[in-house]
Amino acid sequence: MRIVLADTIFTDGVLLQDHGIVFNKTIIEVAPNDLLRSRYGEQCVELGEGSVIVPGLINSHVHLEFSANRSTLTYGEFMPWLSSVIALRNDLINECDDSCITRAIESMLSNGITAFGAISSYGFDLTPCAEAPQKVVYFNELIGSDPAMADALYADFQERLFASQEVEREGFYPSVAIHSPYSVHRILIQKALKYAREKELRVTAHLLESSAEREWLDSNKGAFAPFFQNFLKQTQAANTAEEFLGYFQEISTLFTHAVQTSEAELSAIAQGNHTLIHCPISNRLLGNGVLDVTRLKEKNIRFVCGTDGLSSNYALDLFEEMKIALFIHPNEDLLYLAKALWQSVTGDAAKALRLNCGTITPTFDADFLIMRVNYPINEQLPIHLILQPHTIESVYIQGEKVK
Ligand SMILES: [Zn+2]
Repeated sequence: MRIVLADTIFTDGVLLQDHGIVFNKTIIEVAPNDLLRSRYGEQCVELGEGSVIVPGLINSHVHLEFSANRSTLTYGEFMPWLSSVIALRNDLINECDDSCITRAIESMLSNGITAFGAISSYGFDLTPCAEAPQKVVYFNELIGSDPAMADALYADFQERLFASQEVEREGFYPSVAIHSPYSVHRILIQKALKYAREKELRVTAHLLESSAEREWLDSNKGAFAPFFQNFLKQTQAANTAEEFLGYFQEISTLFTHAVQTSEAELSAIAQGNHTLIHCPISNRLLGNGVLDVTRLKEKNIRFVCGTDGLSSNYALDLFEEMKIALFIHPNEDLLYLAKALWQSVTGDAAKALRLNCGTITPTFDADFLIMRVNYPINEQLPIHLILQPHTIESVYIQGEKVK
């Protein structure tokens, strides 16, 4: 059992000044420092002036297999980016061995990320993820819109999923990713979701990221049309958006991007108790626009912030993501938005990914960061923690100091 006394604890939108925590693997107690001093005396570790404890951050969406990208892929618009991914993905994948993926995982840890959702396209990131200190929700991705290839593609997905289910370690969760409405045949989707429901696996999917996707799903036209014709001899979208959302009615899912969703689709998302993953930097770099968080609030839809992969970002850093989000939603009240963003990378992400962390509360895992600020702490701390350069002194996962 250990006791640390902080200047401030910031959790669940609340600032607790002169508070400390008692913990082992989980949080045992959160109480005022004076009370803990009188009860535990010299066992208490004083963190001192400017010390702030926050829950460890949770990055719900990252593609580690593409971590070799720096300037290889074309930014600015979705279709040129997608074409560059297809042309260069083999080079990028081959350039990123286990040590490259491990570096990306370590960079997340340095940035205070104690849990992440990894979208795995090939299974090449399995060993580094299995050996990572963080909690890992390991999403095996299913892709394939060509019915003729359906069996082979499902077999490949299943093989990767089974391999991830062989990993035996606490905090590693084999899960399912459906690539997107335009790239997966309905028979494959239904088969994978049936299995996910039976095994209670976590599920994620990309959804309505670009205007090209919107046009293709709605009318089989636009920039996706020549792309599908040339690569797959397809003239019709694999699913409409409505059909696609219909498959997920009975399984709470994390849908990534959703920038181009309609009113009716948002209602379906609310009804299904789904979560949206907001990746503001990726959306900007690929020219996809901005997720309308005001509409989400009106519909009571939970959103969480994610970095996406280094295939569409320059860092795996949720502080950077929150900072950009603060500026691209200028009509939201600043303090309200800052608190919502913090919640999106802590408590709300934990709920969406079904993890026992994301809050400094008794019975939850002791996953937390000790930060240090060099300015007076006041009620606007959630804003300043995002804006000021951050100093993370220590990172704890399940009570163990890992950084
Ligand atoms: Zn993605």
